[in-house]
Amino acid sequence: MTQRVNLLNLTPSDAETTLSGAMSELGQPSYRVGQVLRRLWEVPAASFDDMTELPVALRSALHERFVLPRLELTERQTSTDGTEKFLFRLHDGEAIETVSIPDGNRVTLCISSQAGCALRCAFCATGAMGFSRNLEVYEIAGQVREVRLLDPPIEVTNIVFMGMGEPMMNWKAVDPTLTLLNDPRALGIGARHITISTVGVLPGIVALGKRPEQFRLAISIHAPWDELRQQLMPINTKFPLKEVLEAAKVFDRRVTFEYVMLGGVNDGIEQARELAALARECRAFVNLIPLHPGGSQGFVPTSGNEISRFARLLRDRDVEVAVRKSRGMDIAAACGQLRVERLGRRPPRAAEQHGDVEVV
Ligand code: SF4
Repeated sequence: MTQRVNLLNLTPSDAETTLSGAMSELGQPSYRVGQVLRRLWEVPAASFDDMTELPVALRSALHERFVLPRLELTERQTSTDGTEKFLFRLHDGEAIETVSIPDGNRVTLCISSQAGCALRCAFCATGAMGFSRNLEVYEIAGQVREVRLLDPPIEVTNIVFMGMGEPMMNWKAVDPTLTLLNDPRALGIGARHITISTVGVLPGIVALGKRPEQFRLAISIHAPWDELRQQLMPINTKFPLKEVLEAAKVFDRRVTFEYVMLGGVNDGIEQARELAALARECRAFVNLIPLHPGGSQGFVPTSGNEISRFARLLRDRDVEVAVRKSRGMDIAAACGQLRVERLGRRPPRAAEQHGDVEVV
C-alpha cells in the first residue's frame, strides 16, 4: 500500500493540487476540493469522519489516501492571569510546548519550531535540555490548529516564534509554515501579526527578508557587546553581534531587539547606554523581557524598579522601548520549563554536532 499523504504538511496551493487530482480520480465534483481544503485549517476538522458535509463514502476514500495527524495534548496549565501552557506529545514521543497569552482582544500564541534546541543559551530551560529534532510543518502550524480544535476554541490573533527552538535553524519547515499561518485559505493571520524571533542566524534573516509578506523580525540581543553575549549565547561565535546588527540594518522592515533582563549581568548603566546606541543605529524597537524565575539556573531576575530605570535610560536616548509583562508566573511558563519538569533534562549536545540542523 502506498504511503498516505499528510495534507497538513502541504501549503494551501499544494493541498489544492493534490486534492484536485484525488477528486478527479474519485469522480467527484470539483467543489469538493474547496470543501476539504477549508476543513484543513480554516475551520479545522479533527478527522475526515468529522467532515460531515461530505458523503460517507468520500470520507472513507479520503481516509485511505490521506492523513490529518493530530498533536496529542498531554497537559494544559492555566495561570490566574489567563496565560495557558500546553504540552503536546508528538508521534515519536517527543514533547513540545505552546503558550497562549490573552491580552484584551488579542490572543498571542507562542509556538515551538524544534523539539529542544542546540544553541544552549545560558539562561534558557530549552537550551539546557539539548536538541532532539526539527519539527515538521504540520507540527509547527499544528499547534495553532490544535488550540482551534479545543472546546471552546482559542481564536489566535498573533503568533510569535518564541517557544522551543531556533526557527531559523529549521527554515526548511518554517518557510512553508509561514505561508500556512498567513494564507486566508489556511489560518489567515496577518503577516504583521506574525513575529519570527531569532538569535541572529544570518541566512535565515536574509531568507525572511526575501519573502514579500510583512512578517516581523525580532532579534535576541541580550548583551550589547561580544564578550558578554558570547557567555550568554554560544552561537555568538558563529554569528557575532556586529554581523547580526549589519543584517538588522539592511532588513527592509523595522526590527525588534529582544533583551532578557538578567540581574547583575546585563542590566547596568553601561549596558543600557551601549544598547541604546546599537538600537539607534539599527532604528530598532527594544523589548525588555523580565526573566521568568522558574526557567533558568544560575540567574536572578532584575527587579521591577531596575527594569524601569533601564528602560528610562533607553528612552532618554530616543529609543522606543517596551517592558514585556511577566505572564504565567504561577505556572511553568518559561520556554521549555514544563517539558523539563515532565520529561527531565537530557545531556546537552553541542550545536556543532548537529549535522542535521538545517540553516536555510
Ligand atoms: S533562548 Fe531560544 S535559541 Fe537560545 S537555547 Fe533557548 S530556545 Fe534555543
